[in-house]
Amino acid sequence: MKVPKPKLAAGEEKRLRRFRPKPPKSFLEVYHRATTQRFYVLSRTRHNSAEETVELTGSTGNIYTVVVARQPTCTCPHAREGNQCKHMLYVLSRVLRARYDLVCQLALLEDEVRGILEGAPAPGADGGGGDGGSGSGSGKGRRKPVEGDCPICFCELEGEVVVWCCAACGQNVHKGCFETWAATKRKQGAGEVTCPYCRSVWGRDEDMVKAIQRDGKRNADGYVNVASQLGISTQRDYSTYSRWWSGHPSSYRRRY
Ligand SMILES: [Zn+2]
Ligand SMILES: [Zn+2]
Ligand SMILES: [Zn+2]
Repeated sequence: MKVPKPKLAAGEEKRLRRFRPKPPKSFLEVYHRATTQRFYVLSRTRHNSAEETVELTGSTGNIYTVVVARQPTCTCPHAREGNQCKHMLYVLSRVLRARYDLVCQLALLEDEVRGILEGAPAPGADGGGGDGGSGSGSGKGRRKPVEGDCPICFCELEGEVVVWCCAACGQNVHKGCFETWAATKRKQGAGEVTCPYCRSVWGRDEDMVKAIQRDGKRNADGYVNVASQLGISTQRDYSTYSRWWSGHPSSYRRRY
């Protein structure tokens, strides 16, 4: 089926890269990686209604920055070579929940970017991460129901060990994700380990907090790498985390 070329009306915005009526095979491969590998969102900054910066790290521990705008960019080597990288696709599809037909575009129209950001979970605020949740009465020490997505990896909370922000908002987070998040923040110079959701000081697990205070190092490519201190350079195996994160049986509770 031949898709007619969209005509530009006078004054209409031009897409910075050619419109893709359907994704090429190369996209499908990268998209598969983007949606099956785990990434950890370190920060999200909404600059305006048409631009957001997302800082993330993946299994190698390198930290990359994705900018969602008319021309999405990423600081990783693959993107620097001019490719649409898995980080961009991850951010668009999982974090911002953009429509698939937009995720596969190499460039977006300004209205499309606005639409994506408008429909996405708000960055770092109550109402982000999970699916709205129920009863947002963020009573101190009250745990939210374990439902919706982890606010760090943007995957389902259910099915993995979950910890929660008992000092403030009650938000649930995958334990492995929280450790990665906290260790990376530390390495970036954060003074205290905070809740990735409400930014309050994380009020428990002092041993874990100490365990992640070791410095990260820049690797040969010049990217800050935290894999060594996280134990994620080998395999994604949660028993690795448990080994140095011992002694808090209450945190091993699943669900409620
Ligand atoms: Zn990238
Ligand atoms: Zn997670
Ligand atoms: Zn919190």
